[in-house]
Amino acid sequence: MSMAMVEEIKRLKREKKALVLAHHYQEREIKEVADFVGDSLELAGIAANSSEPILVVCGVSFMAETAKILSPDKKVLLPNVMAGCPMADMVTVERLREEKARFPQAKVVCYVNSSAAVKAESDICCTSSNAVSIVKGLPDQEILFVPDQNLGSYVALSVPEKTVHLWKGFCPTHHRVEVEAVKVMKAAYPNAKVMAHPECRPEILEAVDFIGSTAQLVQYAKAASNQSFIVGTEKGILDILKSDSPQKSFELLSEELVCPNMKKTTLMDVLKVLQTGANQVEIESEVREKAYVAIQRMLDVSK
Ligand code: SF4
Repeated sequence: MSMAMVEEIKRLKREKKALVLAHHYQEREIKEVADFVGDSLELAGIAANSSEPILVVCGVSFMAETAKILSPDKKVLLPNVMAGCPMADMVTVERLREEKARFPQAKVVCYVNSSAAVKAESDICCTSSNAVSIVKGLPDQEILFVPDQNLGSYVALSVPEKTVHLWKGFCPTHHRVEVEAVKVMKAAYPNAKVMAHPECRPEILEAVDFIGSTAQLVQYAKAASNQSFIVGTEKGILDILKSDSPQKSFELLSEELVCPNMKKTTLMDVLKVLQTGANQVEIESEVREKAYVAIQRMLDVSK
């Protein structure tokens, strides 16, 4: 059944000129039918530069929205509309406007893990790879960072010359891991280097050898002379780590590092949207244009 489904997905991709994009955190079978697997920034870049008229974004809703913001003329399909991001939902436009009124001098820097409407209310976007350099590079002294408090506090520590107001959002998957896990895993694997995503708690980031975005963690593991690594981010990254460095060993920092939202998309969902063209992402043009400005500013200063 599954093989037949995979073959039908491949046939429909060709027939409809559809490109399937998958985030690293997706189930392996989804990544296997994808044309491109990457982190949020990489997927956004592919979405913006591809020539195919249909993009099937296997990830969570803000990723499909980002693809639509960057490629308004394409059909962007989200295979499972229930795949949302709880952290993105922790900031609303109304609450953000209130906070902006409290800090009128602050520039709003918005992590890409946020809705199109929140991006539209922000001055500039960032990803976990470029958050520090974006905040550092802004001429402004005061920043309102939304929605991830952990990435925000990592930025604040890295750019001490600025005042960074933190939104109290968090990624439930990364935030639920306690620093105790680092001690336990270091005791079990004393020769391993510990690496973590900045969505982890500050105590964890203080205790690890390397902090980076998904793509940066993959590069670090590849380049390091060390053979063994403890990985503090979502479990799906293990696939790329192992395929990139097959001679090295990788242990997940905690079995809790699984994002249930990223695992909602099934092969059947992908097949259905390819067959029907359902679940098209639509964004009001005014919101899309403002959100585009925030993303484009990030892309311009990240060149
Ligand atoms: S891993 Fe966290 S930030 Fe990413 S989609 Fe899941 S809940 Fe959202």
